[in-house]
Amino acid sequence: MNKYIGAHVSAAGGVENAPLNAQKLGATAFALFTKNQRQWVGKALTEEQIAVFKANCEKGGFSASQILPHDSYLINLGHPEEEALEKSRNAFLDEMKRCEQLGLDRLNFHPGSHLKKITEEDCLDRIAASINWALEQTKGVIAVIENTAGQGSNMGFRFEHLAHIISKVEDKSRVGVCIDTCHAFTSGYDLSSREATQETFDLFEEIVGFEYLKGMHLNDSKKDLGTRVDRHESLGKGFIGMAAFDFIMKDDRFNGIPMVLETPNSDIWQEEILLLKEMVR
Ligand SMILES: [Zn+2]
Ligand SMILES: [Zn+2]
Repeated sequence: MNKYIGAHVSAAGGVENAPLNAQKLGATAFALFTKNQRQWVGKALTEEQIAVFKANCEKGGFSASQILPHDSYLINLGHPEEEALEKSRNAFLDEMKRCEQLGLDRLNFHPGSHLKKITEEDCLDRIAASINWALEQTKGVIAVIENTAGQGSNMGFRFEHLAHIISKVEDKSRVGVCIDTCHAFTSGYDLSSREATQETFDLFEEIVGFEYLKGMHLNDSKKDLGTRVDRHESLGKGFIGMAAFDFIMKDDRFNGIPMVLETPNSDIWQEEILLLKEMVR
């Protein structure tokens, strides 16, 4: 199996443009928003758009396992209040259905926040219940929980949080995780050397398990270890440095999943992708 490497590309003008933008970068993976990420409701996808998206993916050599759609930032599947929780669940279900329509097999999302109104455990249980609810109404799309930096009251900043949610999801074949290296680092998992990276992913294996790893976000960090602040940096220009990315590129446990840059300078994505590709053994 291969290493699939790319970036979170623009879908401006329509989802069908995302695979074209990824292809221009020489990418073998990409992430996208299937609707405006700052709005609750997106325009329905047309049959035409869906067909062109699929054709463009095929042309670019992108299969579903190389694509990692990301949901809207507004969604909070662990919301403490019923009405807002329902709004989030409906929006998430809509995002899952859009993935289904596009022939995609996974949807990346941030778990949710307790807003200091319920306990961390209650929040995690709500997130799991939200996932169960959405999975019952869809087919073939895996709910991929992203680890967070732990800013504010966001959950998902400990591997134990991810494991807790997974343990309460009924269909284990349709739940997974995406590890964002910047979020992991600022939430307290050291990635600043080869040894530290090894230890962090040993811990990940022990607590979550690589069988659940369905994607990676490859970002350096503008902030230091354990600061719980989410500020991405270009590869090698932040507190993480290149050793972690070299480790990931050479480790077979990261094969066959989309690994995408969310680094701030899109002008150098092509170079960053090339650099990562060269690190693969
Ligand atoms: Zn994210
Ligand atoms: Zn991310």
